[in-house]
Amino acid sequence: MDKAQKFETQAIRQQIGTTHAQEHSTPLYLTSSFTYEDAEEMRAAFAGEIDKNIYSRFSNPNTEEFVNKICAMEQAEAGYAFASGMAAVFSTFASLLSAGDHILSCRSIFGSTHTVFNKILPKWNISTTYVDLKDTASWEKVVTANTKMIYVETPTNPGVDLVDLNWLGDFAKKNNLILVVDNCFATPYLQQPIKHGADLVIHSATKFIDGQGRVLGGVTVGRKELIDEIYAFSRSTGPAMSPFNAWVLSKSLETLAVRMDRHCDNALKVAQFLESNDQIEWVKYPFLPSHPQHKIAIEQMSAGGGVVSFGIKGGLARGKRFLNQIKMCSLTANLGDSRTIVTHPSSTTHAKLSEEERQKVGITPELIRISVGLEHVDDIIADIRQALDLSI
Ligand SMILES: *Cc1c(COP(=O)(O)O)cnc(C)c1O
Repeated sequence: MDKAQKFETQAIRQQIGTTHAQEHSTPLYLTSSFTYEDAEEMRAAFAGEIDKNIYSRFSNPNTEEFVNKICAMEQAEAGYAFASGMAAVFSTFASLLSAGDHILSCRSIFGSTHTVFNKILPKWNISTTYVDLKDTASWEKVVTANTKMIYVETPTNPGVDLVDLNWLGDFAKKNNLILVVDNCFATPYLQQPIKHGADLVIHSATKFIDGQGRVLGGVTVGRKELIDEIYAFSRSTGPAMSPFNAWVLSKSLETLAVRMDRHCDNALKVAQFLESNDQIEWVKYPFLPSHPQHKIAIEQMSAGGGVVSFGIKGGLARGKRFLNQIKMCSLTANLGDSRTIVTHPSSTTHAKLSEEERQKVGITPELIRISVGLEHVDDIIADIRQALDLSI
């Protein structure tokens, strides 16, 4: 890896070596296992003494290329690629935590991660306390002798709230906690949590990294000694990313920077349009000066990202009418796609939470999330405008 190269260059030029065919674009390595010259080479590969692939559950040239690129982009020492974002999230917990351990997290968090905290980890007596991101003083009080990890998203899904990563990095270090940041919304192009003190960064590659709604994927990168444990767990338990998905995602990374520039430009314009519309109760977008944490946003992010959330006047019933009038944008649960996506989290992605839990998280019935795509921004705004007009 040439560390002097800029982000965009690393994303494109961080390729694995070519084969006898001297192909320009990395080929797809559809093979479950790999061969050796002799017994000694095979022994050394299994012992981890030489850097050779063994079996695609452990590693594969395509997943290696994908992980290398993400490591370069996040400035991480090592990583492992998973079949999905949730496989990355769960395997990270399962690798590093033991019965009795305690996690600190923020309330506003991806729906399935919430389910892992509330329903799955308690089976192994691993507990989670949710802390208020805006009340940093309260964090100190909930750290116990068993607290081992802090897990946050910033910006959060779907509330678009932020965490001050510099503060959090210092807090984690002071309390000797492993800091894990789900960097899915920002992508490494807009924010690199390791620079602020994160030990590990997780991505659902399904979102902006793929960027075209085609494949699932996840990745955890960060400090080598932690990744070694994650690798040891994953090599035996099998949550690995498929070579095909890694091949797709590696190509996707080549265009991440240019795609994110456009996602961010379009999202800012959509947010500004919504803010100026009298049918809207409130708008949250990190790079709008009205965002309560705008100062943090401009310090740790280079642009506001592709997701805007807003509250529509008229609450749940109006929100449903609005969704029913949308013509071009897609009604689907995904985000980070080239196509603009409109969702209503309280009836879909976060429907598994109780009404009370949703209130605590800030997922109010009027909240609508837009993942702003790469269509021409005039067409995106026109679709939102006509749906607002027709849903009154
Ligand atoms: C989608 C998402 C995940 C889970 O990723 P999958 O690839 O769907 O398993 C985790 N965190 C965040 C913030 C997400 O948006």
